[in-house]
Amino acid sequence: MTFVVGLTGGIGSGKSAAAEHFARLGAAVVDTDAIAHALTGPGGAAIAAVRAQFGDAMIRADGAMDRAKMRALVFADPQAKKRLEALLHPMIRAEAERRIAAARDAPYVVLVVPLLVESGHYRERVERVLVVDCPESLQVARVVARSGLAPADVEAIIRNQATRAARLAAADDVIDNSGDLAALHKQVEELHARYLALARRSSGDL
Ligand code: ADP
Repeated sequence: MTFVVGLTGGIGSGKSAAAEHFARLGAAVVDTDAIAHALTGPGGAAIAAVRAQFGDAMIRADGAMDRAKMRALVFADPQAKKRLEALLHPMIRAEAERRIAAARDAPYVVLVVPLLVESGHYRERVERVLVVDCPESLQVARVVARSGLAPADVEAIIRNQATRAARLAAADDVIDNSGDLAALHKQVEELHARYLALARRSSGDL
């Protein structure tokens, strides 16, 4: 059985930056956000179902789901959000399992799940929960710099996610990403050494 670390954190906390460094060190990274993008991108496996449930207006000319339009809809309509999740989440989980199975030669897998604490499903799937943490003011500043969203929009997204305290309470391990990228990388390297040891122990290969 592959040892799986669930990596989570709020928007802009540094999940992708951390995952990139784990990948550089040799871990396999399976990113549920990337899976969701692929499923809802042009020709994606979820497009037919999204069209059937939400209508042609939600599909762009290039065959991708109109993410901006869908985001606006699910923000305004909790029922639509439930329907979209009921459609996408099982497909995302199935694809994540396929990718984890395909990574059987890697020493361990980092499964990136932005909403791990919120969704519950992944909690029991992973051997450890790793939370990337930083103050909300830094999340806002980083996302504004990355995306050009207004600070108020980022704050609204943060309010829709688990609180920092709830996330930390679910964590086995925490990366403090309030420093620079070098400080983030150093913590990832320390955790990588721990996960290699834990993965070896869990496979009985001592
Ligand atoms: P997430 O995947 O959690 O949304 P990202 O890893 O994409 O967050 O980080 C958000 C933005 O902040 C990115 O542009 C990233 O390059 C930048 N960033 C992340 N960590 C740091 C850091 N420690 N110092 C400076 N910039 C950072």
